[in-house]
Amino acid sequence: MNCPFCDHPKSHKHGKTSKGSQRYRCASCRRTFTETFDTLYYRRQVTPEQVEMILQAHAEGSSLRGLSRIGKRAYGTVVDIVRAARYKAQLGHNEEVQAVECAQITGDEMWSFVKKSKNDVVQKI
Ligand SMILES: [Zn+2]
Repeated sequence: MNCPFCDHPKSHKHGKTSKGSQRYRCASCRRTFTETFDTLYYRRQVTPEQVEMILQAHAEGSSLRGLSRIGKRAYGTVVDIVRAARYKAQLGHNEEVQAVECAQITGDEMWSFVKKSKNDVVQKI
């Protein structure tokens, strides 16, 4: 198993974590890590199957509160899993999609901001 910190190919078993998963130690930088380090499953009490179910259902349009009720997980847990997946996906996208040559660009959304002067703000009574 390669070290996630320095990519050194040699690591040794280094006891277990408090949750019982195998801990490894890099022979080069001597830092410790687990198999799930830097994945969506790292330090979660949710099984990989549940994480995949939540993400699949979210991709199909289920509401986060609905997923929380059906999966019997806290709303914050569901939101955190979706956010972590989004972050990982963005990193993967940024790494893979670079220097794309294109002749034309099409936009499907445009946002604008209209500044409001302080005096125009309606006061709620
Ligand atoms: Zn290392």
